[in-house]
Amino acid sequence: MFDSVRVRLTVWYSAVLTMVLVLVSVTTYFIVRTTSMQRTDTDLAVLADSFLVTFQDELADARTIDPSAILGAARQSMDEHRSNSDAFVILGPTGQILTTSDEVASSNYERATLIARVLETYEFRRFANRAASNELTLDTIPGPHTRRRAYARHFKANDQSCLLIVLHSLHAQNEMLETIRFTFTWMIFLGLLLAGTGGYFLARKSLAPVVAMGAQARQIGATNLHARLPVLNPNDELGQLATIFNDLLDRLDQSFERQRRFIADASHELRTPLAILRGEAEVAISQPGRSAEDYLESLKILHEETSRLIKIVEDLFTLTRADSGQYPLTLQDVYLEEIVTDCAQSARTLARENNIDLDVDASAECRIQADPALLRRMLLNLLDNAIKYTNEHGRVEINCRSTPNTFEVHVTDTGPGIPPELQSRIFERFFRADPARQRSGREGGAGLGLSIALWIAQAHQGSLELVRSDASGSHFAVYLPRHAVASTHTD
Ligand code: ADP
Repeated sequence: MFDSVRVRLTVWYSAVLTMVLVLVSVTTYFIVRTTSMQRTDTDLAVLADSFLVTFQDELADARTIDPSAILGAARQSMDEHRSNSDAFVILGPTGQILTTSDEVASSNYERATLIARVLETYEFRRFANRAASNELTLDTIPGPHTRRRAYARHFKANDQSCLLIVLHSLHAQNEMLETIRFTFTWMIFLGLLLAGTGGYFLARKSLAPVVAMGAQARQIGATNLHARLPVLNPNDELGQLATIFNDLLDRLDQSFERQRRFIADASHELRTPLAILRGEAEVAISQPGRSAEDYLESLKILHEETSRLIKIVEDLFTLTRADSGQYPLTLQDVYLEEIVTDCAQSARTLARENNIDLDVDASAECRIQADPALLRRMLLNLLDNAIKYTNEHGRVEINCRSTPNTFEVHVTDTGPGIPPELQSRIFERFFRADPARQRSGREGGAGLGLSIALWIAQAHQGSLELVRSDASGSHFAVYLPRHAVASTHTD
């Protein structure tokens, strides 16, 4: 049950609200209780003052120091200050009770007995003793039916030291506090009930879009990755979540699409050499009486196509490993100009076969931390293309330069160039500007060479660009930072 966010939210919400309600109620209750007790104490002091003023007046009027005069004045004063909630007790110099208001004033027998019982209690005697020895003047005394607030005041009557104790019934105050307690308890209970139900419905309503999104997301699979979640309000948190999720789906969709295209293109590329292999083998098998030259020719074709197949498979393998970031780069301190010279040397035979001039300028010292095998592969791809797409008696140049921040390798040729509308696509996998032309002879590439070269440049934190390509030829440039931190990841 607590696994549900709705329930957890409701419980938290209710718990916090209950805590707030309890805190407010308890604080209010104690403030009311303290204030009302303070007011009672003040009232008691005022009442005692008023009582003693009347008492002293009455005593003065008696003009005698007879002990009965004290009793008479006390009774007179008690009569005047008679109230249902207050009782007066006068103690003599030795602590004995001289008189009480109920002996005098109360016609209510029940009340008189009650007060008499209070006076007999241990707590009252204790208070009276402590008040007599000036230890305290105020205290709360438990008693039958209700507690009483006791207030003591010393006074002199005909040179005798007496003690007035006023007992105030806390019944009304207790009732008021009881009502407050009752009200607060119900308030907290009702608050909890309302917060619980209200909070649950609120949480349910707020989370409804998430549940709907979840249901919809569950229906999105590899086959319908084009479906998107509805974005009700793009500015709120849920809208933002849906947008982020849709962006993720976009990326996934594109990635799936790329993968689908990659597999389709790869199969297509592999099919042609495989068909040639099968055709050639069939011819060799079906014509048993062929000459040795014919067999040799067939074997040559088989060898060429197998090499082509191996090259395509190797390129595919490189790109797949590059995509998953699993191509290990073996970094070393190398001299780029030496690699450029080496590559030019390797490409020279091919250039010569096609009557193409190959010029190298690798005089600048370019010491770099890089994977030499990959750099060689990148440069050979560029040189191979330059030679492949340049007509006889053309010219190919490769040179490397050193700038303050980068090392650059430029490969230029005098080939026919790439049509402007296709230039932006040449780094795409399997893209060939003129597939028909390349099917013949050695020119048949699979359209992976530049993709791999671009990845190698990026894996060294550099870049590969087509600087210019027109009827006068093409110019490719590789830029490698001097202090590259190599990475095996590409987009
Ligand atoms: P391929 O294996 O077909 O050469 P690449 O990825 O190396 O594949 O090149 C992609 C396409 O870019 C080629 O098919 C070709 O049309 C074009 N291209 C690349 N380099 C050159 C160049 N130097 N001159 C003209 N076209 C080029």
